[in-house]
Amino acid sequence: MPNTIQIPTPLRPFTDKKEAVEVNGATVGELLADLTKRYDGLRRHLYADDGRLRNFVNIYLNDEDIRYLQREQTPVKPGDTLSIVPSVAGGAPTVAEELPTLTQEEIKRYSRHLIMPELGVDMQRRLKASSVLCIGAGGLGSPAAMYLAAAGIGRMGIVDFDVVDYSNLQRQIIHTTNDVGVPKLESARNKIAAMNPHVEVVGYETALSSENALELFRDYDVILDGTDNFPTRYLVNDACVLTGKPNAYGSIFRFEGQASVFGTKEGPCYRCLYPEPPPPGLVPSCAEGGVLGVLPGIIGVIQATEAIKVILGIGEPLIGRFLIYDALKMRFRELKLRKDPDCPVCGTHPTVTTLIDYEQFCGIRPEPAAAQTGAAVNDWEITPVELKRRLDAGDDLFILDVREPNEYQINRIPGSTLIPLGELPRRYQELPKGKEIIAQCKMGGRSAKAQDFLKSVGITNVKNLRGGILEWIDKVDPSQPKY
Ligand SMILES: [Zn+2]
Repeated sequence: MPNTIQIPTPLRPFTDKKEAVEVNGATVGELLADLTKRYDGLRRHLYADDGRLRNFVNIYLNDEDIRYLQREQTPVKPGDTLSIVPSVAGGAPTVAEELPTLTQEEIKRYSRHLIMPELGVDMQRRLKASSVLCIGAGGLGSPAAMYLAAAGIGRMGIVDFDVVDYSNLQRQIIHTTNDVGVPKLESARNKIAAMNPHVEVVGYETALSSENALELFRDYDVILDGTDNFPTRYLVNDACVLTGKPNAYGSIFRFEGQASVFGTKEGPCYRCLYPEPPPPGLVPSCAEGGVLGVLPGIIGVIQATEAIKVILGIGEPLIGRFLIYDALKMRFRELKLRKDPDCPVCGTHPTVTTLIDYEQFCGIRPEPAAAQTGAAVNDWEITPVELKRRLDAGDDLFILDVREPNEYQINRIPGSTLIPLGELPRRYQELPKGKEIIAQCKMGGRSAKAQDFLKSVGITNVKNLRGGILEWIDKVDPSQPKY
């Protein structure tokens, strides 16, 4: 009887879109070897150059992390299932001794809480005395903030410096069409005020940073991580551990979501699960990969639920448990998480004792100053303005679009050739020999990955289009639609 390996969405381009692959072997290592034998393109996603499993890829045998079994030597039984869980780019807090009273209007408003034996008046007063800080008023922050406000959390902090865009409206339900162009903070504040004027909304129109995170977090009981990028995710995690605040975590990608509660004294943190981030570009963001509009509704509301449970000290929060939701299958799976004694932040001998430079930690290349001028900035990338100039001058360039066909339908650079990133390992021979290649995607992440791959097979005359087609549209061809 063969074993099954569950393939997560970001890696399915390398398994002919298969969600699960049947493999044979007697140990975890043998099963993975069988998998990469069949799908060679997966190898570099799972293993580093030295042959070791990459540490942002976690492998579970049934519901156990193999790091706590015998790692790759762990024996498997017939029918066991392996899950590959890559990272994808949201203790009861102190309650004021004197709880605030409820007004008559509030008693009416919260009556469906008040008649529940598990909640009642005192628990509602506890919610009123509590505070939650939402990092971001986007896909996850929208439903989370709305439900938390409706439920009667006394003080809602929101950190966001973005402005509402049309492309947000498919899922960020706190914002409406009339809010396009308005700061998200203002839009969120108006909606919450209309829904529940008893909630104090504190807005921080700023980027969360290593400079401000600790001070901001200290004023709140629970932090709700609604971020969409790795530097902020690690920053939120570390700041939660350092300030002792629980982190209601959530993340979303396409049809899949994850949720957990990190940063409590007894439980693990995000770094116990993923000590290091994936290299930039390896895991696409929602802006690159898309997300089903209803998905953040589900995950954001799970985060809000966990925040309320942690505040009230009721039920079993998702501490030490990692919830994975698959909207297409309509299935929840749960993995056990353990606190890693060697965790660099929450372990017994932490090495991270203060906030660090998270952009650098996540390997994000700083934007060169020259980038603003539209001139070529270095020898591995090209700006849209420079590309246009060279095309106009008649330079013989091959523009390689590595997005998916459905994205290519929306917009494209004239004359470009589509080879999706996942197909590149078996189709790169189609590239013309000797011609200079300009790799391009939506924003520059996937094409940087394509550039790295091509380099690994000896094709080095490749430049990455900085900012992808979005910057091309901004700087060169505004007639095309953006997505
Ligand atoms: Zn930890």
